[in-house]
Amino acid sequence: MNASTCTLPIAARTAPAATPDLLARGGADHARQPAAAGRELEGYALLRHAMLTAFPGRIAVVSSFGAESAVLLAWAAEIDPMVPVLFMDTGQHFAETLEYRRALVAALGLRNVQDIRPEAAALASSDPVGLLHGIDPDGCCALRKTDPLDSALAPYKAWVTGRKRYQAAGRRDLPLLELVDGRVKLNPLADWSASDLAAEILARGLPRHPLSLRGYPSIGCAPCTQQVAPGEDPRSGRWRGLGKTECGIHRPA
Ligand code: SF4
Repeated sequence: MNASTCTLPIAARTAPAATPDLLARGGADHARQPAAAGRELEGYALLRHAMLTAFPGRIAVVSSFGAESAVLLAWAAEIDPMVPVLFMDTGQHFAETLEYRRALVAALGLRNVQDIRPEAAALASSDPVGLLHGIDPDGCCALRKTDPLDSALAPYKAWVTGRKRYQAAGRRDLPLLELVDGRVKLNPLADWSASDLAAEILARGLPRHPLSLRGYPSIGCAPCTQQVAPGEDPRSGRWRGLGKTECGIHRPA
């Protein structure tokens, strides 16, 4: 199967209702009742259909194990605990993120979490002392995130992200499905709000990232993540003051 023949409809940038067939088929046997009525069927059903029907064995979940990652990972673990989960191990994460990753994987029973790291030679050549983020953050993200992920995704026909529309102005039109570089990209949580996610985390008894309770609603690498004041965009603490809002993993469709 390839992206052009998959059974998932490729939605326009704002068309969350474009998957009613998926909701009907995928949501019918969902054992848990959604904490946020109506929304979970959309997200969960889409993920389930993609993992079990459209791209079995050819789909990966990409997760930062950040502030709200637990919901998507809990769904994925429930659907198939062997699904590949790709974690970009940049070498610059908060210690709290690495500990949260360990605890969440154990709690959910995920059995195929893969650490994706930069090439050792490229790292030694371009950032031998780990300070590239301070002088060239785009280059640092390419070295530590974008390039390694491009290589890691090569075996897959589709991948899943945890992005949401509410997170930032630049994500307001985020579609459920995209076709990027010939690969289907799913955003099952695109339409979920912060309160939807909080309710789902509570309903499922999922552990919280400790920094999410200390003013970090979006958590990336430690040198490039700051606390956010009430009322600010959740992602405004990322690369604050640098005019940079994305690491480059999420290019426009
Ligand atoms: S978020 Fe910062 S430290 Fe992490 S890869 Fe990008 S520039 Fe480097």
